[in-house]
Amino acid sequence: YNMMQNRTYLDWNATTPLRREARDAMTAAWDVVGNPSSIHGEGRRARGLMENARATLAAAVGAQSRNVIFTSGGTEANALALSNSLQRDKQAPDRLIVSDIEHASVLAGGQFDPDRIARLRVQRSGVVDLDALRPMLAGRPPALVSVMLANNETGAIQPVAEVADLVHEAGGLLHVDAVQAFGKIDFNIKALNVDLLSVSAHKIGGPKGTGALILAENVIGPRALIQGGGQERGRRAGTENVAAIAGFGAAVAAAVAGRASDMARIEILRDRLEQGFRQTQGKSQAGVIFSHDVARLPNTTLFGVPALKAETAVVRFDLEGIAVSSGSACSSGKVQPSHVLQAMGYGPELVRSAIRFSLGWETTDADIDRAIKAWRKLSGALLRTDETVLEQF
Ligand code: PLP
Repeated sequence: YNMMQNRTYLDWNATTPLRREARDAMTAAWDVVGNPSSIHGEGRRARGLMENARATLAAAVGAQSRNVIFTSGGTEANALALSNSLQRDKQAPDRLIVSDIEHASVLAGGQFDPDRIARLRVQRSGVVDLDALRPMLAGRPPALVSVMLANNETGAIQPVAEVADLVHEAGGLLHVDAVQAFGKIDFNIKALNVDLLSVSAHKIGGPKGTGALILAENVIGPRALIQGGGQERGRRAGTENVAAIAGFGAAVAAAVAGRASDMARIEILRDRLEQGFRQTQGKSQAGVIFSHDVARLPNTTLFGVPALKAETAVVRFDLEGIAVSSGSACSSGKVQPSHVLQAMGYGPELVRSAIRFSLGWETTDADIDRAIKAWRKLSGALLRTDETVLEQF
């Protein structure tokens, strides 16, 4: 990928290149003609591909195959999870608590009325505040709580097992968006004591537009958002995207097999990149690596310097052949300041300065050299506060 285009792609948290294993599985699956709901041989073959992927995914997180619901991606998995029809031990929470740093698809609140949704704050480190959660749960009706396993912008890993204890003590249910953590850190749905888990294929080398919601053993529900033919045990109707699901399964297998060695290597590259930033940043300017002092994903660094304008930096890096991301979410062409950094308590200057570098299994030493060299070249001009200089870009 990199060699063909002479590009350095450092935006793996946005999406990843398709793994060869996933491409091969999909190519083979296109020629399987059956509908997975049909009982004839053709149907059974299509179903076999799908059930194979389901078993691989279930094993990867320590769940049972029958508790895997395939969806159109992480967004739909999150939307499906946030249902006020969920049950465990006959309790169906009718209020929702979401952390301030969740993905937009969780912040949207699913099926809950906006006045039944509360926000859990995070500390400056980017980690949820457990002391704030306790009073939100105590002496009140059970809640569905949604806290992500790792944040997509900072990479900060959240204390999900501790959150689970507090939530369960109060009779509630815990949903975890594991879209960014999946394939990067090892975890298990039982060990974390999570009730519902969202994952997405395109963050781990699978196809875009495929994901899954995975339920713990004793969770009942959720009510299907899409009703019809009763596929996915009545929890997500519509003939399944067999080829994409087969690709997802192959990507999961490859990601799990390579994870330990890939991530050890990637973390070293990420740390070298951060050293490069520190050495180059202007002497008078205080650069920040967000969430640096807490447990983070090994592949992510979110970096800011007050005088920097992230959008300008992203364009300049792009012209140097390097794809990075501004910490801000960009929707319909308008750049919004990062709700994550705002929730962490940073002021507008640093918030608008944040640039994210996220690495993956194809990232090389040469990519990191190139990024550090580019930053050295660009930082002088990018860090000059004179607006007219910045306007020239
Ligand atoms: N949750 C997190 C933390 C994400 O980073 C993303 C990716 O953008 C999503 C959910 C959405 O997943 P998808 O792109 O598959 O809808």
